Amino acid sequence: MSNKNLLERSLQAVWHPCTQMKQHEMLPLVPIARGEGVWLHDFDGGRYLDAISSWWVNLFGHANPRINAAIRDQLDRLEHVMLAGFTHEPVVQLSERLSKLAPGKLGHCFYGSDGASATEIALKMSFHYWHNVGHPGKTGFVSLQNGYHGETLGALAVTDVALFRETYAPLLRHSAHVLTPDWRYAAKGESPRDYALRAAAQLENHLAQHHAGIAALIVEPLVQGAAGMGMYHPDYLKLARALCDKYQVHLIADEIAVGFGRTGTLFACEQAAISPDFLCLAKGLSGGYLPLSVVMTTDEVYQAFYHDETARGFLHSHTHSGNALACRAALATLDIFEQDEVIAANRVKAHYLNRAAQPLTSHPKVKNFRNCGMIWAFEVETSDPAFAGKFFQAALKQELLLRPLGDTVYFMPPYVINEQEMDMLVAGTLRALDSCDSLF
Ligand SMILES: *Cc1c(COP(=O)(O)O)cnc(C)c1O
Repeated sequence: MSNKNLLERSLQAVWHPCTQMKQHEMLPLVPIARGEGVWLHDFDGGRYLDAISSWWVNLFGHANPRINAAIRDQLDRLEHVMLAGFTHEPVVQLSERLSKLAPGKLGHCFYGSDGASATEIALKMSFHYWHNVGHPGKTGFVSLQNGYHGETLGALAVTDVALFRETYAPLLRHSAHVLTPDWRYAAKGESPRDYALRAAAQLENHLAQHHAGIAALIVEPLVQGAAGMGMYHPDYLKLARALCDKYQVHLIADEIAVGFGRTGTLFACEQAAISPDFLCLAKGLSGGYLPLSVVMTTDEVYQAFYHDETARGFLHSHTHSGNALACRAALATLDIFEQDEVIAANRVKAHYLNRAAQPLTSHPKVKNFRNCGMIWAFEVETSDPAFAGKFFQAALKQELLLRPLGDTVYFMPPYVINEQEMDMLVAGTLRALDSCDSLF
């Protein structure tokens, strides 16, 4: 097998996600033969440091020996059994452990496969809850400007990224988008916290007027990923929680991208000392190994469905709900968090990378350099609309997998990245920026 052979066959047979396939006439696909730690290796001796954790999923490196061993062990016992009417040890253990770790009292776990299916579950459950408790008029959803919650129709309706949404607008239910607390939108001289308070005041106006028709507010806590790693002050979450309580609206925390240590705490909501009514998790949940998502909710929500009448139950399903192999990967991931004291170790790594990144923060083309936990981002001053694709290519030449969102370059590395690799990441990013000079 060679790179060339595989990429030609892939272009014939595979329709790749989030891609205008014609662009591959110019931009070659990157064939990957194997992964190890933070590295992805191709067939011809090339390698790439996976600085975005393969779309934000990988936590402890590719081919992690401990997660591999857990999956192998599970493979010889039980690969999968349907979760309607049946149960198994990995899904029970995982639910118990997640409930202990999650903020507040989220004792009931409902499983899906992808992140988008978790969003759908939370939206449907919230609506159905209000229906079951005698508020059938609460059918609307509120989400943040520039928010992202997945690509299926229900999730896309609460997503506000024009490129993904506009074409499908006629298929989408109306959802209200309120002012984002992302501090890049703060007025000159306004602190991130002051701006967050202003955004929360706008949320209050909206809820005060429309709460009778609103089931839930859905947010990405602390970091709006697809918006270009837009970061915001935790006081926004505190206020949003209080407003949801005041106006009887559910709070859905979409921690699909930010959960599992990405923001510096196991869950982002911890930094605001709040607990949502629904917590959506996916991506890093299985260490990035297998598609697995979960929606965790309260006893109050659960009890509103618990009834003699079948249709009052939550009859939603995904065939691979609670897949045993994926749950074992998730259990092995939680073991690593505990055994290696990952949250504390990441704090040391983040400190190191912030220091190492000094030449980037002072680079004349770099704006808004920011960090939250194990996420770093900055905007590049460029007028080239094709910047993202060109920078991606320039980074590959530096052995880095970096995939800018518009003019935002971000790092979201696996937590196993070491100091030498962090130095390579910064040096390679600087060289890629400088080799893109013609773009500015
Ligand atoms: C990735 C993501 C999703 C969607 O997850 P998929 O597994 O791609 O369906 C939803 N919400 C957020 C915040 C995400 O980052």
